[in-house]
Amino acid sequence: MKDKTVTIAGAGFSGLTTAFYLVRAGFRVRIVEARPMAGGLLQTVEDEFARTETAANGILNSAHVEDLFRTIGLPIQPTLKESKKRFIFRDGVPRRWPFSIAGSFRILFFLFRYFLAKQSVAPREGESVQTWGHRVLGREVTTYGLEAALQGIYAGDPVRMSASLIFRRMFAAGEKKRARPSIRGTVSAPNGMGELIARLRTYLEQKGVQFDFEHRLALESPLREPLVVATSARAAAELLAPIDPERARAISSVELLPIISTTVVFDTPTKSAQGFGCLFPPAENKPMLGVLMNNFIFPGRGKKGFSETWIMGGASQRAAEVLSKNDQEILNVIEKQRGECFLSVSERLSARVTRWPAALPHYTVDLEKALPIIRQNRQNVFLIGNYTGEIGLSRILEAAEKTAQQISAEGEWS
Ligand SMILES: Cc1cc2nc3c(=O)[nH]c(=O)nc-3n(C[C@H](O)[C@H](O)[C@H](O)COP(=O)(O)OP(=O)(O)OC[C@H]3O[C@@H](n4cnc5c(N)ncnc54)[C@H](O)[C@@H]3O)c2cc1C
Repeated sequence: MKDKTVTIAGAGFSGLTTAFYLVRAGFRVRIVEARPMAGGLLQTVEDEFARTETAANGILNSAHVEDLFRTIGLPIQPTLKESKKRFIFRDGVPRRWPFSIAGSFRILFFLFRYFLAKQSVAPREGESVQTWGHRVLGREVTTYGLEAALQGIYAGDPVRMSASLIFRRMFAAGEKKRARPSIRGTVSAPNGMGELIARLRTYLEQKGVQFDFEHRLALESPLREPLVVATSARAAAELLAPIDPERARAISSVELLPIISTTVVFDTPTKSAQGFGCLFPPAENKPMLGVLMNNFIFPGRGKKGFSETWIMGGASQRAAEVLSKNDQEILNVIEKQRGECFLSVSERLSARVTRWPAALPHYTVDLEKALPIIRQNRQNVFLIGNYTGEIGLSRILEAAEKTAQQISAEGEWS
């Protein structure tokens, strides 16, 4: 089995980390990447004003993340202590605790039920985030807690997102206790996520992994050796269509959400939201999902001035309106909202708008239904990516290890 070469399509985080575990398991690996560079969505762009991330600004730390960084010889950059402050926008003001006394009691009551009788508050099959939230947390906590927090991760519509898909690990029976990392929370590489990608690529090359850039893989006939498809959902559906139309159809049914990530450097920071950032719940009907205050998260993010990343798009009602705007109009919206929400008027020193037309899979009840087919690894083709059940990098890293284990388990895959 290990005399076979595993091909990986896609040198984004999913592809590189799957290669990392395959190499560790003793496989020969070849990575085919359509673009001239590794990283996929993850790129760090440097200029005189800021160090800007085009997608993820960090990764939730875990024992897996620490092992990865240690193995590739990269120090872990923890967040600054100012980032402990997080804000949610409610009734015209950013607030650290956006709940009333009644809402706070609802949270306590939920926790009490969760620790005493977990299944009494578990999501039901096919239940949306909003319906589940209203049932177990009440309307206020759902609107200003649950919906705001999930918007910051999934950018989805709470009326359509699947509660059991998103929270299944919290309620899974027999879920193994995970080893605790030494640093809690989000981490990065000292010079940003681009440094993590660069170091991982160098490590893999030293281990004999062959990179084949500017080569878009296409499949015509069933494969003799294992293939890992580590692309976006759209590219995976195209790739699989000739050899596994059923899985290709299931992947094509995944709705993809557009995101605009705009990093603006201002000469002064906002006064009312100095911390990790601020989330805007859908109920506040704002054109943005959230804003990250980069200078207060990791050192060196704003080199001259104060760097903020404004995230727009997703499935929100106002997304379509924002997405049709040109870059200058987007910047005008940001400056207007910054003035209204944070009462801040500052000079803009620089700006970078990154558009991802199909960045994130919508974690809907329909995706929940399609996943059992998507997850069937057959015909020597293994799928990994943010549409296969885990959207965040930390969970993708664990999925990469599992994928390598499945390929190693001789007989299971052929
Ligand atoms: C704005 C934004 C902010 C985010 N913030 C966070 C965050 O803070 N924390 C977090 O954990 N996650 C975050 N995420 C999510 C995370 O960045 C993504 O889920 C993750 O980077 C996806 O990686 P991937 O390797 O699966 O896919 P991709 O990065 O899309 O990589 C796929 C690669 O496959 C290549 N490819 C496609 N087709 C082919 C083909 N036929 N042959 C060969 N190669 C091909 C592509 O060129 C690409 O390089 C964010 C996402 C966005 C958009």
